[in-house]
Amino acid sequence: MLYIVPTPIGNLQDITLRALDVLKSADYILCEDTRQSGKLLSAYGISAKTLRYNENDSSAVSRLLEVLKSGKNCALVSDAGTPCVSDPGWRLVKAAREAGVKVTALPGPTAAACALSGAGFGGGGFTFLGFMPRKPGKILKMIKAALALERPVIIYESPYRIVKLLGIIKAGIGPDVKAAAARELSKTFEEYIIGTVSEVAENLSARKKILGEFVLILAPSGAENLTEEDNEED
Ligand code: SAM
Repeated sequence: MLYIVPTPIGNLQDITLRALDVLKSADYILCEDTRQSGKLLSAYGISAKTLRYNENDSSAVSRLLEVLKSGKNCALVSDAGTPCVSDPGWRLVKAAREAGVKVTALPGPTAAACALSGAGFGGGGFTFLGFMPRKPGKILKMIKAALALERPVIIYESPYRIVKLLGIIKAGIGPDVKAAAARELSKTFEEYIIGTVSEVAENLSARKKILGEFVLILAPSGAENLTEEDNEED
């Protein structure tokens, strides 16, 4: 059986009792990075055998599939948050399903949902884009298409590129798009910077150093007036 197990995005306490049970009882824990997952496992005294899962190595996927087919229970984790959400995992999930191996995904932490719930940008649907492509033209095409759906748009970004991304949005879509940049979620220095794209960019540019990973949420114009009923009627 393949268990997909979300792990904390910062605060080690953000793990469910069920996730801990599954990790403790698994024959193998399949990790994006065994050293990274080792920190969580040792914090909870879990000594199950870890194996590295490299999504880009097709022979690794077939090797792990053989382990699963032999009847072993495997728990798939990524470095943080939910596997397969801007993280490795889907190739193994697909292969397992195709091979008739039972798959179950546990609910748990994901930065997108955490930031959306904390930003106050509407409580209905949303569009999750994950990481942006590198080319400004492609970025704008994706964001414009997403904003046209009139739901908050959720983007993942690193501290090294966040200001550049905000600049691209400001120039290509407009300085007044409402935005929330959520950084260091669940950690000591958690912060939401909320304002127009222009204001958020200015705030971050004024810092000596930009630290932490970011979730950027863009609100379509009129988002304040969105209600859950709007979503239901659609
Ligand atoms: N699978 C993860 C999830 O479920 O959210 C996402 C992994 S992806 C490789 C890493 C990105 O998620 C970061 O670049 C950032 O955009 C976002 N992220 C993860 N942890 C975060 C945190 N504590 N605060 C803000 N953003 C975070």
